[in-house]
Amino acid sequence: MADHPVSMEQIVNLAKRRGFVFPSAEIYGGLGGFWDWAPLGVLLKNNIKREWWRTFVQLRGDIVGLDGSIVTNPKVWEASGHVGNFADELVECLKCHHRFKADDVDKKCPDCGGTFTSARKFNTMFRTIVGPAEDTASTAYLRPETAQSIFVNYDQVRETLRKKLPFGIAQIGKAFRNEITPGNFVFRQREFEQMEIEYFVKPGADDDAFEAWVPTCYDWFVSLGLNPKHLRKFDQPKKELAHYSKATTDIEYAFPIEKGWGELMGIANRTDYDLKQHGQHAKGDPEAFATPIDDEGKVKKVPYVIEPSMGVDRAALAFLLDAFTTVSGGRSTTTDSIKEEEFVLKLHPRLAPFTVAVLPLSKKPELTAVVDRVATTLRANWMIDVDVTGSIGKRYRRQDEIGTPWCVTVDFETIEGGKRDKDTVTVRDRDTMTQDIVAISDLVQYFRTKLE
Ligand code: ATP
Repeated sequence: MADHPVSMEQIVNLAKRRGFVFPSAEIYGGLGGFWDWAPLGVLLKNNIKREWWRTFVQLRGDIVGLDGSIVTNPKVWEASGHVGNFADELVECLKCHHRFKADDVDKKCPDCGGTFTSARKFNTMFRTIVGPAEDTASTAYLRPETAQSIFVNYDQVRETLRKKLPFGIAQIGKAFRNEITPGNFVFRQREFEQMEIEYFVKPGADDDAFEAWVPTCYDWFVSLGLNPKHLRKFDQPKKELAHYSKATTDIEYAFPIEKGWGELMGIANRTDYDLKQHGQHAKGDPEAFATPIDDEGKVKKVPYVIEPSMGVDRAALAFLLDAFTTVSGGRSTTTDSIKEEEFVLKLHPRLAPFTVAVLPLSKKPELTAVVDRVATTLRANWMIDVDVTGSIGKRYRRQDEIGTPWCVTVDFETIEGGKRDKDTVTVRDRDTMTQDIVAISDLVQYFRTKLE
């Protein structure tokens, strides 16, 4: 097991207790490999996706977006090789009949010690029916990766957006895999979300592009707070490469799961495999998607593609694990009453579900009016929470536990003045617990500066 100070159980508890993730349809007993993202989890995931989009699309200028359909023409999956190759090896215990992915088990069944059948291939694409006729002609698949809709739209995107190599297409969306053994919370699900880029380059420029993408992706995780001690790069051995890949480097995270280090994302050099396959299957010519590689547009080649591919849910899990901090005995030095264990979720402020919480010192109506005013101003910029119930210490701890970086406290000095100026509030920092006094009119700028 990789060395991680936080257990999966702690994160599962937090997720359930504070509304990040629930088992899907729990009132019916749930369904293995499916999870529902609860209100705070949705905010966390939205923030991860926004940061990714900002870094890789908005700030670069050489990558454009796409949102392909989940179900598409099944010929796509024949051409891509998924119908033939997207399979795991499955073994079944002869005694208890439990099934496992062959990679995950040794010779004996972990549930009863029984022996296994020999391994057989199991295609992990979900099948569905399109239209009212339930015959084989209407069989389609839920996409097992978002990448293929990028390849099948490559030429249209290039032409309509007048893109020249190198350029990329980015996509965020759901993918589905009928995993033999889902588990470890949201680490391995049957329905999950991916953020993928296909970055098209001239043949020959692919090795350099691949080398450049690996640190770019690694640095993105670190810039949003992942501890480099919990990250490592792993070059996949040649014999384990996927059928389309010339080289793959995984960025792995020290997930507290049995097998230890687990893939957080993969960066693959997919060569010209996919575009050639689609050229051949759709147009009868593997060179159909050849693209100008010189300025005059005279020399054309099918581009190579580098694919940085990550899972939103696995990223969310890694960010939660890295942020989760336990403080035994409590952090407060001003009150003796608060001495129990405290949890602080030290998420990067741009990832935290709520950027700010507004807390009135009491429920008195004269404070409520100010709280409404402050809340309305902040809401125009960020997701915020207004919490009025319980002692102020309890409310701080509730916000610490869900990662809110700043709490704004509205008290009687805000309306009356006194030791402080009127129309000021205190802003308490989640990590340092220091308090700043800030004029209400300066609050938005104050947080903007902090978030930069
Ligand atoms: P693994 O070896 O863990 O099955 P993979 O190599 O099949 O992963 P890719 O096909 O490279 O994964 O998918 C890209 C990313 O999508 C992964 O790095 C991971 O973050 C995410 N991902 C893949 N499968 C799942 C899953 N079953 N549940 C959640 N996320 C997943």
